[in-house]
Amino acid sequence: MTHVNDQSAARARLAQLRANLTSVEQRVADACAAAGRARDSVTLVVVTKTYPASDTRLLAGLGVADVAENRDQDAAPKAEECRDLDLRWHFVGQLQTNKVRSVLRYADLVHSVDRIRLVEALSEGVLKAGRPELGCLVQVDLGADSAAAESGHAPGRGGALPEQVPMLAEALAAAPGLRLDGVMAVAPLHGRFAGDPRAAFDRLAEIASRVREAHPAATMVSAGMSGDLEQAIAAGATHVRVGTAVLGARPPLG
Ligand SMILES: *Cc1c(COP(=O)(O)O)cnc(C)c1O
Repeated sequence: MTHVNDQSAARARLAQLRANLTSVEQRVADACAAAGRARDSVTLVVVTKTYPASDTRLLAGLGVADVAENRDQDAAPKAEECRDLDLRWHFVGQLQTNKVRSVLRYADLVHSVDRIRLVEALSEGVLKAGRPELGCLVQVDLGADSAAAESGHAPGRGGALPEQVPMLAEALAAAPGLRLDGVMAVAPLHGRFAGDPRAAFDRLAEIASRVREAHPAATMVSAGMSGDLEQAIAAGATHVRVGTAVLGARPPLG
């Protein structure tokens, strides 16, 4: 009986994920059409944080190729359970240097590089592990204004200041074992872009284009989540990171 219930629960979850994915896919397609962009210029990255490995497995079966996680404690065992799946793993959370070794076991890309110390730790870690090159994005804090720089903006708390981006991009491009892929941001809750994701993502696009002048291969712009993926695509995002719209609302403190 239990077995039958488990099976029907799994079938129901699969149907729900399929329906959610279809509606997110439609939103992405509509946003691309509205922006006059090709659908294949935007990659959907599904943020599976707080959800079990069984969901990641179902998503892979539904054709999802890119998944993201934001906490190593949650991600490491999940990635291990999903080793056999052909997935690209994105790490999108704040990364402490003492977690680098673990993250390098499964991550293909890290979107949240925001300080030199982390560039050094990642580069050293890739070389020590003898693993393939790690794709890296500089995370930009769009909520910080330049006054924050003087008043001691704490790096590592969700992105680098915009004025630090060229230096971090340069460091990533020069670091053995790392590949500079682009920039990432979250629509800020504070500062002059609060409540205006489109303006925030336009600012990110400017920063991205400055980075590309020096590093033409750094073409990734990771922006947009469940609530603002349309604005991100309108502003030129190449990767949208969508969690709740695919998997459902996370419990608080997820
Ligand atoms: C959780 C998370 C997302 C996904 O957010 P949703 O609102 O659930 O779509 C995207 N990016 C980062 C960095 C996240 O931590």
